[in-house]
Amino acid sequence: MDELTNLSAARFAVYVHFPYCLSKCPYCDFASTAAKQIPEERYTQAILRELEQRAATLSPRTVDAIFIGGGTPSLWNPKHVSEVLSAVAKRFSLGDGCEVTLEANPGASDEARFSGFLAAGVNRLSIGVQSFTPATLAKLGRSHDGDAAKRAVRAAREAGFGNVSMDFIYGVQGQTVDEVRRDAETAVSLGTEHLSAYALTLDAESLAEEVPLAKQLARGEVQLPPDDTVVAMQRVVRDVYRQAGLHRYEVSNYAKPGFHSRHNATYWTGGDWLALGVGATGSVGGARYSNQRSAEKYLVEVEAGRLPQKSVEALSVAERFEERVAMGLRLTSGLSLEQVCRDAGQSYEQRRAFVEQLVREGLAVMDGPRLKLTDEGLDVHSAISARLM
Ligand code: SF4
Repeated sequence: MDELTNLSAARFAVYVHFPYCLSKCPYCDFASTAAKQIPEERYTQAILRELEQRAATLSPRTVDAIFIGGGTPSLWNPKHVSEVLSAVAKRFSLGDGCEVTLEANPGASDEARFSGFLAAGVNRLSIGVQSFTPATLAKLGRSHDGDAAKRAVRAAREAGFGNVSMDFIYGVQGQTVDEVRRDAETAVSLGTEHLSAYALTLDAESLAEEVPLAKQLARGEVQLPPDDTVVAMQRVVRDVYRQAGLHRYEVSNYAKPGFHSRHNATYWTGGDWLALGVGATGSVGGARYSNQRSAEKYLVEVEAGRLPQKSVEALSVAERFEERVAMGLRLTSGLSLEQVCRDAGQSYEQRRAFVEQLVREGLAVMDGPRLKLTDEGLDVHSAISARLM
């Protein structure tokens, strides 16, 4: 049994969203807002209040991972991060070695701030580097440069973080495969434990809101690299990372042994997660809820004593099945499709011929009961998942 097979057990995590940024990037569809004055105190109080409201309806649980994402949570004063983490620890029990991640932007990173986060209980930093190449950073509207990203990694080490991740984007307009290779080589030279690399997505159907770059793409004012170039970029990333000892454990995620993201494993393996903050989406006991995406609306709702959610729905057995298949196949450890079908009352027999075809074509392997996509299969993960549903 490999390390990641162990992730199949359902887990419980907490996600906290911090929506404020210094400026809004033109490709971003996260629940984020540019703010000159961040209402830190007010937002912290709202998070604490939402935690109380939501936790009051839950039975005691052990938290395996906490993720503070954004937005730019490295703009949050460490004393407020400490208040939030203490409140989560008080309301639930934290499991041994609970992973506590905070997302940092290279433009809002320094050693003093990072030391404050470490003292507050954060034990993993995820730095949004995106690229080291000036032209790519400019196209993405990022306000930092490649040197700021390198300084952020150094600051994280000097502050004492032993678990650091960096995020990258490829498939940006004007970007070449060679530039992606150089970004990947620079990334591994910094020696972080975890790397994520995502293809830029500007397809209106998969975006939560309209973003300027997607509109420009629709009007034909910008062009992204063709699909075969994007696939070549993904392969270059995979090869450079692999040679440096970071193995691909999920479609877009790579880690040194023992350093996979425990928080994200919650989503991929069908666990529950409590989500707090603007635009956060949580899933507890089969119900999925999404909070208000407007920071002001969120604050007003919480302050009025109401749950700040925009929607809540109970997932049907069929929806849970589809999610388990799509998410489980993202992991290189795969999933027991037969078991997942049985749990959902679905027929494995109807899918058997397609599974055998995947194996014949080198897109998947069977490892005991587990169906695992190969690198080639992971490259077409969405199409395979759709067929299995
Ligand atoms: S820094 Fe991140 S969250 Fe903020 S606008 Fe840019 S991409 Fe969005």
